Amino acid sequence: MALQAESVAAGISFDTDYVSTIDGKAATSPTTASVYNPATGQVIASVPVTTRAELDEAVAAARRAFPGWAATPLEERQAIVSAIGDRLAEHAEEFMALLTREQGKPRAGAEWEVLGSVAWFHEIARQSLPEETLVDTPERRVATRSTPVGVVGAIVPWNFPILLGVWKIAPALVAGCTIVVKPSPFTPLCDLKLVELVQDLLPPGVLSAVSGDDELGKWMTAHPEIDKIAFTGSTETGKHVMAAASGTLKRLTLELGGNDPAIVLPDVDPQKVAPALFWAAFQNNAQFCNATKRVYIHTDVYDAVRDALVDYARTVKVGDGAEPDTQLGPIQNEPQFRKVREFFDDSRASGHVFALGGEIGDGPGWFVPITLVDNPPEDSRLVVEEPFGPILPLLKWSDEDDVIRRANDTPYGLGASVWGKDLTAVERIGRRIDAGTVWLNEVHQYSPHQVFAGHKQSGIGAENSLHGLAEYSNWQTITLNKDPDAV
Ligand code: NAD
Repeated sequence: MALQAESVAAGISFDTDYVSTIDGKAATSPTTASVYNPATGQVIASVPVTTRAELDEAVAAARRAFPGWAATPLEERQAIVSAIGDRLAEHAEEFMALLTREQGKPRAGAEWEVLGSVAWFHEIARQSLPEETLVDTPERRVATRSTPVGVVGAIVPWNFPILLGVWKIAPALVAGCTIVVKPSPFTPLCDLKLVELVQDLLPPGVLSAVSGDDELGKWMTAHPEIDKIAFTGSTETGKHVMAAASGTLKRLTLELGGNDPAIVLPDVDPQKVAPALFWAAFQNNAQFCNATKRVYIHTDVYDAVRDALVDYARTVKVGDGAEPDTQLGPIQNEPQFRKVREFFDDSRASGHVFALGGEIGDGPGWFVPITLVDNPPEDSRLVVEEPFGPILPLLKWSDEDDVIRRANDTPYGLGASVWGKDLTAVERIGRRIDAGTVWLNEVHQYSPHQVFAGHKQSGIGAENSLHGLAEYSNWQTITLNKDPDAV
């Protein structure tokens, strides 16, 4: 299959004309929904609201395309996935600007996400699951191989709309699956454009995008012709997805919520560790499944680390992500803004001490100040739940076993970090944390070749690495009795 080097995007506008893509063609729907810029509260676009019949069409097209795509040689599928990465790279600037407009994240965050997505396409395109020969004698051969699962439904959240879509699109296509993507209704624009922009690289129906609200997600999870759901979102929704998928025993990958602890040892340099801890918690305005959501600081350095965090936080500029010096943007959407405000109200009503922030101003835009809460009780809502916004509890510890118990005392198990100069202690503590990723003296380091998975109620299955690729495959044992006289 010849890949077109030149872009088809010359005629595609990044400012208007947001469409679904069904069976390789742009699709509009009878009704539309508005998309807002969270920094201004202004409507920036309207998108189709995909009907149930249109979803059925997209799934039927994916089903029709599946045998041909699955039979396409792996090397060709890999080359196409890599070419999709090239196409995204060609339009990186347009995607970054659009991502800031619809999601609110400043330029640095948009760059990380868009260029990261390019790298993901390129690197996942190098992956494969080779057939494994278990027995090969003159009499018999036995092998394990992977076959593509079929039609995938991808459901994406609003915090990293492009990257978390790409984490599903790239491995699904490499594995030989066809895929229908549903972005979050709060951030559909980049995903719709990306899918539209790469259609000339793919046979019709292999990669579709539909657009709609939670109802559309429900139709997908119960759809009899979808074989697998790849979902990123909240733990609560993940439970609904799992229940709905049980009717047809769909394969599931669930990447869900987190309540990541950071444990800070007594030997840290407060000035050095504070910026790292700050960004561990507040990157993407804390709308991050893997954000540090509880910081356990040893009592010996508690005051010094808290004060260094406050000093550093005062230097960080919160504002419209479109302004060049902005470091943290707004909360992405109004329901989330209301949810974050509940945590502020609860902390104030409970008499918590604010080391910084604490008061939410009046708009425009869904802005929340950086807020550090000084040693609230362990059972406060802020410590136990996932605020998904820039309010962070700082907590004291002095006994190693006790802080490990507290770090693990959560239904979540997504990520964790440990910080200290004593590497033996750092690793000893890190290895006792029950989470899918444990970072030691660093944080938020990801790779397409590194497994990403949630323990406990943070998820089921994995993304990235060959383990993630395997989630788009069924395992098959194939045996051969070589004796022609046996039959
Ligand atoms: P959400 O669960 O509200 O929505 C996620 C997606 O699911 C959206 O596309 C939404 O339309 C769809 N949806 C909602 N209800 C549905 C249903 N009943 N059936 C099928 N689909 C449905 O999550 P959100 O608010 O968009 O994202 C924030 C949450 O996502 C946080 O809890 C965060 O921790 C989590 N998250 C997890 C990861 C991870 O990799 N583990 C990454 C990012 C975000």
